[in-house]
Amino acid sequence: MRIDIITCLPRLLESPFNDSILKRAREKNLVTVEVHDLRDYTVDPHRTTDDYAFGGGAGMVMMIEPIHRCILSLTAKAKYDDIIYMSPDGEVLTQSLANQLSMKENLILLCGHYKGVDERVRQHLITREISIGDYVLSGGELAAAVVSDAIIRLIPGVLSDESSALTDSFQDGILAPEVYTRPAEYKGWTVPGVLLSGNPALIDAWRQENALERTKKRRPGLFQGI
Ligand code: SAH
Repeated sequence: MRIDIITCLPRLLESPFNDSILKRAREKNLVTVEVHDLRDYTVDPHRTTDDYAFGGGAGMVMMIEPIHRCILSLTAKAKYDDIIYMSPDGEVLTQSLANQLSMKENLILLCGHYKGVDERVRQHLITREISIGDYVLSGGELAAAVVSDAIIRLIPGVLSDESSALTDSFQDGILAPEVYTRPAEYKGWTVPGVLLSGNPALIDAWRQENALERTKKRRPGLFQGI
């Protein structure tokens, strides 16, 4: 899989892909992540990517030309399954959407800033809009990193134990069960005895029950869908 991220602040995306699981995924060539600086697609000496909003009002708007130039240079080299604009009013990211996107080959993620992008970008240049939740961030970079992380960890081979992603919350419409590690007792706080029993069947049954209980308590909406 290949993810191309278009941003006017590429530095914001340096660390998320250079540590831990995402770094290893790139090193194993399971995913290529390329960050493109929108300023490289400007033609004026100031490398301007934004301008005042028509009609006035507070806040700058990202201009269509550099974005279009950048998208054209990418689509000339590869075919993209989706060109996604990160936007608070887009389709909200869920595990099921992450599952769908993890099966794509090539994706572009466009990060907005300020008041967002000129609406004509949304009307003519992109194929999809994704939000990471009903709140407003100052830029799309963190949202693009969240979407990329949620997708990349699902690519076969990225997690060292492939079954691990399947037992995470939301994957089967339920939450994950409680987890514990050593020491078995800490300041008198103990671990459920069954987890120390060494009996895989009993442990599986307990985890299943625990996951259902947790879902009922914390996400009753999910539970009703089971
Ligand atoms: N004026 C816009 C918000 C712009 S925020 C509005 O009210 O809808 C600036 C940029 O941050 C957006 O262009 C988008 O790329 C990004 N962004 C902000 N919140 C986001 C969210 N919840 N999910 C995804 N991207 C978001």
